[in-house]
Amino acid sequence: MKNNQLPRLTIVVPCYNEEPVLPNSAPILQTLLQHLIDNQQITTDSKLLFVDDGSQDQTWALITQLHHQDPLFTGLQFSRNYGQEAALMAGMQVANQYSDLIITIDADLQDDPTIIPAMIAQAQDGYDIVYGVRNDRSTDTWFKRTTAQSFYWLMGKLGVNLIPNHSDFRLLTHRVVTELMRCQESRPFIRGLIPQLGFPATKLFYKRQPRQAGVSKYPLRKMLRFALDGILSFSIAPIRAVLYVGLTICGGSLFVLLWILISHLYGTVVTGWSSIMASLWLLGGFQLVAISMIGEYIGRTFTEVKHRPRFIIQTDTYSPAFTSSHSD
Ligand code: UDP
Ligand code: MG
Repeated sequence: MKNNQLPRLTIVVPCYNEEPVLPNSAPILQTLLQHLIDNQQITTDSKLLFVDDGSQDQTWALITQLHHQDPLFTGLQFSRNYGQEAALMAGMQVANQYSDLIITIDADLQDDPTIIPAMIAQAQDGYDIVYGVRNDRSTDTWFKRTTAQSFYWLMGKLGVNLIPNHSDFRLLTHRVVTELMRCQESRPFIRGLIPQLGFPATKLFYKRQPRQAGVSKYPLRKMLRFALDGILSFSIAPIRAVLYVGLTICGGSLFVLLWILISHLYGTVVTGWSSIMASLWLLGGFQLVAISMIGEYIGRTFTEVKHRPRFIIQTDTYSPAFTSSHSD
């Protein structure tokens, strides 16, 4: 096979404060990519693209150092921390200008990079999307597994098609990434967007590994925000649910009013303080939930209409033509 017929691959790796992990994972990915190049499975100008999501540690210095050692390594540096989804979107957007295939993988290599050659083989067999799926999450904590399962269950109930146990380890072809980039929301929920795009897709299974070094960048606060993004950006079901609960309570309160009227006219008992208090708290609570839910959607509309850039790239050692310091 001639070189120009081979696919050009870019592996996009989001990095946030990954100084402890990069010296381990970079050589592993480098060996893997070099092996694919030597075996003439991908072009010689295939790259590893690290996206530094505004790290406060030496992550960017390490990426620059790697770039000088071997041009296989390239990097994008954000002007600040924008979050993993933004890092993935930026990496894919930039890489897609020059690549036929794009693979995204976490920097901590919890997802098994040894299935990458099999992913490329699937792409050559005609699949546009190859999902990496964890069939063993025993290295994740009980809390992480349970919250993840509940999240998949809830999203399923809300009618959002997610691939269970698939995180952000996947292969996409050029045309899929082109379509993905047309999704313009400011806080994209990539795992939900990709299955919606269609295209021939398949799964490859692997065992999830423990983090190579460093700590998870997803504390509970960030996990909740991620879950809420997923739910609210894909469904208006929560606001509907609030409406139905509200209607049921209103219907129920008609009977309560009737009961109060009857006891007032014929009863000998003074209307109970406890029942008043109970309904007061119940309705008060429900109203607060309903208002906050509406607020969430209005807040999101507000964010969307501003059309602010999803990220700002400060430095780019990937694109040959990068000159500006801003993406917008
Ligand atoms: N990450 C990022 N920006 C963030 C948080 C995380 O780019 O604000 C990256 C992180 O460096 C890693 C990937 O996203 O490569 C997944 O994060 P992590 O491994 O901490 O998540 P977990 O595996 O614990 O869910
Ligand atoms: Mg991880």
